[in-house]
Amino acid sequence: MIITRFAPSPTGRLHVGNIRTALHNYLLAKKAGGRFMLRIDDTDAERSREEHVDAIRADLQWLGIAPDGEERQSLRLALYDAAFERLKTEGRVYAAYETAQELELKRKILLGRKLPPIYDRAALDLTEEDHKRFAAEGIAPHWRFKLDHEEPITWEDGVRGPQHFDPALLSDPVVRRADGSWLYMLPSCVDDIDMGVTQVLRGEDHVSNTAVQIQMFTALGTQPPAFAHEALLVGVEGKLSKRLGSTGVEDFRAQGLEPMAVNSLLARIGTSQPVEAQHDMAALAQGFDLSSFGRAPARFDEAEMLRLNAALVHAMAYADVAGLLPEGMDEAAWLAIRPNLEKVTEAHEWWQVVTGPVATPELSDEDRAFAAQAAQAAATIDWQAEGGAWKALTNALKADTGRKGKALFLPLRLALTGMDHGPDMNALLPLIGPDRAVERLQKAAG
Ligand code: GLU
Repeated sequence: MIITRFAPSPTGRLHVGNIRTALHNYLLAKKAGGRFMLRIDDTDAERSREEHVDAIRADLQWLGIAPDGEERQSLRLALYDAAFERLKTEGRVYAAYETAQELELKRKILLGRKLPPIYDRAALDLTEEDHKRFAAEGIAPHWRFKLDHEEPITWEDGVRGPQHFDPALLSDPVVRRADGSWLYMLPSCVDDIDMGVTQVLRGEDHVSNTAVQIQMFTALGTQPPAFAHEALLVGVEGKLSKRLGSTGVEDFRAQGLEPMAVNSLLARIGTSQPVEAQHDMAALAQGFDLSSFGRAPARFDEAEMLRLNAALVHAMAYADVAGLLPEGMDEAAWLAIRPNLEKVTEAHEWWQVVTGPVATPELSDEDRAFAAQAAQAAATIDWQAEGGAWKALTNALKADTGRKGKALFLPLRLALTGMDHGPDMNALLPLIGPDRAVERLQKAAG
């Protein structure tokens, strides 16, 4: 059974990069008939906010990314304590006392000597006496995980292929602060073990964390899960823009985008598969394939998302949107207007064109005379004629005036809709109806 998880820290809203990670983990699990878990990483009591937890849940729900379960790190502290005690007993965590300033100085010295800024493990040389002295002074230690320098770190990454790390070139990570609070590294491993996570799929900014965590899994007596690290998301400029870092579900909703437009784009960018509008998660999951993920950053293009949105809207049934449409807009109207929409919300603008009032166009004298003729024709044609009212109207006017093409159609569209573009007049004119049509044509005639 495949089990994946999405583990956001509730220190802010989800941005499009987080959403992409959540979606990929969801699709990875769903494709395999597995489980997708939400884990709230709220060990940082200072920065975690309940309102962000609620927003994360609401954002995932809007997107249709439904977790099969939820855990919160703040409710699991006893598990971390137990793992920590075990590692302590086995000599895999050790107490250290350096202040942030002391560590920074050590780093600077190493960098000055052109050496990698790896923690020098000075704390391992402290004696019992030293520890007692710190305790007597009321100085509590922070705790580091002791990497096994004899154990090379390797894994087969689901996106990046074979990975190798020399543990001697990594700093022993601090896992617990002097006040007893936890840093990200150890609780995450404990949870992945306890929750039975089989696949960890996250951004490539976590690659070096994975190297460390692989040794933690082993130290805790388990096989590490499979890991995959995806390339990061960039904007169209090819950079991780500030705006991208703050764009999320709130913006998508405000823009009137469909969740599946967001999902369709985020599921496929950065892969070798085509980006296509998919109507449901099952279809997206079906095509999800980690081996199609590239190493190059994924380009997030809002214009592409809008195109996907339009494609989805053009295929939406009346029943799916009825509740979102303006009062009085029926199925025929929806089908007439739908092909002109990028977003469902734009139906309001076109419905306004149907119900009026519309802008009266400034026509040339000749076109005004033509509009007057058109008003008369509109009052006399058979609106139920086979082929439709628009055809009846334009055929009649063609015969009367000899106009054709743009000279025939454009003044009519301008007079009838106040605009020079829009839905197919065949579909639109019956919605406008004879009374409004005659009135608008007369107005345009002046
Ligand atoms: N809370 C971590 C983050 O937001 C989770 C990383 C992980 O997926 O292990 O980056």
